[in-house]
Amino acid sequence: MDYNKLADLLYPTAVNTDVWENKYPKRELKTGAEVTRFAPSPTGSLHIGHFFQCLCDSYIAKSTGGLFFFRVEDTDKKREVEGSVDNAINTLEKFGIFYDEGVMKNGEEKGEYGPYLQSARTEIYRSYAKKLVASGRAYPCFCEKPENFEEVKEKRQEQLEENFALQQKDPCRDLSLEEVEQKLSQNKPFALRLKSLGDPEKSFKFKDEVKGEREIRENSKDIILIKSDGLPVYAFAHAVDDHLMRTTLVIRGEEWYPSLASHLELFDAMGFERVKYAHNPVISKIDENGGKRKISKRKDKEGNMAYFIETGYPVNSIKEYLLTLANSNFEIWRRQNPEKSLEEFEFKAEKITSSNPMFDFAKLNDISKTIISKMTAEEVYQELSRWASEFDKEFFEVISRDENYTKAVLNIDRETPKPRKDIAKMSDVKESVWGYMFNEYFKPEYELENANVENLKEVVATYTNIYNHADTKDEWFARIKEMSGGLGYAVDNKEFKANPEKFKGNVALVCEYIRIALTGRKNSPDLYSISQVLGENEVKRRFELLLKSI
Ligand code: GLU
Repeated sequence: MDYNKLADLLYPTAVNTDVWENKYPKRELKTGAEVTRFAPSPTGSLHIGHFFQCLCDSYIAKSTGGLFFFRVEDTDKKREVEGSVDNAINTLEKFGIFYDEGVMKNGEEKGEYGPYLQSARTEIYRSYAKKLVASGRAYPCFCEKPENFEEVKEKRQEQLEENFALQQKDPCRDLSLEEVEQKLSQNKPFALRLKSLGDPEKSFKFKDEVKGEREIRENSKDIILIKSDGLPVYAFAHAVDDHLMRTTLVIRGEEWYPSLASHLELFDAMGFERVKYAHNPVISKIDENGGKRKISKRKDKEGNMAYFIETGYPVNSIKEYLLTLANSNFEIWRRQNPEKSLEEFEFKAEKITSSNPMFDFAKLNDISKTIISKMTAEEVYQELSRWASEFDKEFFEVISRDENYTKAVLNIDRETPKPRKDIAKMSDVKESVWGYMFNEYFKPEYELENANVENLKEVVATYTNIYNHADTKDEWFARIKEMSGGLGYAVDNKEFKANPEKFKGNVALVCEYIRIALTGRKNSPDLYSISQVLGENEVKRRFELLLKSI
């Protein structure tokens, strides 16, 4: 077979690959500097796993003095969701992840190694396709896809495209030049396949930056490289792009590991220097049936980065939490350096956890509550307004109406040596933490389980008459104690414990009643501060409201 002739027949206008090799020379970087990239497919909101990789990419590029670029892998037009690229860019921007090169908003790009949008690189792919054909390492396949291909593909996504119907050697492998010519003259569409030289009985050693050294079976599949619509599949585009964009370290999801042998064969067949790989674990969860599974964008809210943005988690809470999942030494570092900024952490690829981490909301919330508890009221206010102005316009109006009042609310039990840890995300402020401090959201719905309603009303009615808004904290408490004694509550807790039947309860119970009246709840932050911030009129209005409502 005259492979050069076959190559000319298939790709008559493709330019020589030297053009591209010269256009995208090796990058001049210091030894050890890693070039990493984030390369999502535009299929909707950013998946948490992708963001996780992206975080690793940017850290490694920065800590090695290398660079990090953003490529869009948009070769599967059927799966594309409009707006995904802008969404990804906005998410990265929001999370303070900056790339040195790549696709930007409004279709613009920065960097010398573009285009960074795969669909704009067909000319480049055609050159390398031609080169492979000319060297006898790829051939056209005119077979039609099985009828249920789309359905099956839905399930296993793009990887399947590389593998379908490859159990036997493809019949098109041995077509003669004349046969190819004839099919082309009938305008038959063709896909391009790799002519694999691998032997599935043989294996070779490979060092993955995360998994360590492994034994891998040789690829023997004639994977598809270019689909009949002229667009490349992942494997081919990955090899060509990461070669020409001079990537040194590919950090990607574990799901690509099974097809690694075919990617390596492709790099070798095209004469490319191999890149290093770090196959990241996939963030998983325990599903309804108790089994482990990968977090899904469709099924799980935490699968979407949009969820964290929309509910108002601070950027650093998410990053900090993901770093605990990513780098096995992060938590130790954090304990030793509680005040350092995340940027100072020295991220190491070899410390990426190799087993699949479980997503744990309780831990994320705990981390986030600690982070927010250390912020000043002013900082929380800024974070809250930023979030509310975008995601809860009505609440935004409420909190901005009297900025000082909102800051006073946020300052309760804050900026003290032991600040209260109760806000994990900005939507908590209205929904579960501070809603009652805003009159619009305070409803006469009281937590009354096990409460003696008559006693509660008696306490509130008495307290209304003696309440003095000018009291200092000590005076305020002394007044409550005095009232408690008068109404038959124990002021001394020891006495109460010794003879509980002699009393209606103790001072703590009296405070709980007042708390229920002011906040609707049995638990709340410091009651004195709450009264002070609410103001005299509102305190009295709430007492009246309780007496009227129950
Ligand atoms: N487009 C691929 C994905 O979305 C990228 C994998 C890679 O980083 O190489 O999973």
